[in-house]
Amino acid sequence: MNRYPKRDDLRAMSGYHSPQVSVKVRLNTNESPIEPPAEFVQDLADAVRNVRWNRYPDRAAHELRSAIAALHQVSPANVFVANGSNEVLQSVLLAYSGAGRNVATFEPTYQLHSHIARIAGATVVQGKRNADFTLSESEVQRVLVEHQPSVTFLCSPNNPTGMAEDPAIIVSTINRAPGVVVVDEAYAQFSPYTALQLVNEDSRVAVSRTFSKTWSMAAARLGYLIAPTWMIDDLEVVALPYHLDALKQVAGTIALKYVAQMERGVADVVAERERLLREMRSLPLTVWPSQANFILFRPNGPGREATSGPGRAVWQALLDQGVLVRDCSSWEGLTDCLRVTVGSRAENDAFLAALRMAVSARD
Ligand code: PMP
Repeated sequence: MNRYPKRDDLRAMSGYHSPQVSVKVRLNTNESPIEPPAEFVQDLADAVRNVRWNRYPDRAAHELRSAIAALHQVSPANVFVANGSNEVLQSVLLAYSGAGRNVATFEPTYQLHSHIARIAGATVVQGKRNADFTLSESEVQRVLVEHQPSVTFLCSPNNPTGMAEDPAIIVSTINRAPGVVVVDEAYAQFSPYTALQLVNEDSRVAVSRTFSKTWSMAAARLGYLIAPTWMIDDLEVVALPYHLDALKQVAGTIALKYVAQMERGVADVVAERERLLREMRSLPLTVWPSQANFILFRPNGPGREATSGPGRAVWQALLDQGVLVRDCSSWEGLTDCLRVTVGSRAENDAFLAALRMAVSARD
């Protein structure tokens, strides 16, 4: 049977994948190494019995939005929830981008920003970060003036490079952007800065967050946006009816009762991150600073080819020892770079031991 061709503008695209190889130590997708509290699991098990399974869920997710609003001291009318922050970002792009509109990113950054924008039919305009991966005011200005993007993405801390954006640049971007500015804060609790205080009715700024990292709930697929009420109304137009299932709504609401446990977990991960940074800096690597739950690094070495340089070789050597990290070595602007998620102490020890072997084998 002849296949039916997909949209012309999707022809050159492939799906977004992060390999889920079965290995002992999986440090490639920035999940939390910590299980949610046992009480959370118990509460959730009890709640399953009370879900009215024959009925559609609360379409407006009142309880969950109220709990998120209370956490951030905003109104529930400032909260949009969806299936992971990826779906939150998709909703923003469906509402404000699309054919004939530009979406700005500053590379290297989270690949899904441009990927989803293209799927939404928009044209992606990619500014460049400085060599140390910070943003320069002049480059941001250039992109905004030349391309008049309807959506501009910032990512703080930036994935995969690790540092929070300079607060002054976030503010100046918001002030100059002709359209909506999304600050993707998937990793914000690991860093000292948030842009949440910049959200108000007169701004066009929105901050996205996720339950996948700090809340130890990647399996649930839950994320949200804090934004002006008019933006939330626009997102409701593009959201599918009942897009957020009843169990997920309950899971999110219950999770928010365990803020103190979440914060302890974040503190533990941050302490482990600092230990990893110290240890990694004693090895023949370039290691970038991090305010997230992952670290970007590049093995030193003579080769610079995208697929056969030291990055790819060290990635393979780690995998051969049962440790999976993210291979960014062929990504634009990240030649030979790898990204490791901060895991449990034992996982980090296993990673460090494997890394020492991998880089000493190259000496
Ligand atoms: N934003 C950034 C910067 C991310 O790194 C991720 C996850 N890798 C997401 C958003 C998406 O997270 P989720 O869909 O699990 O909420």
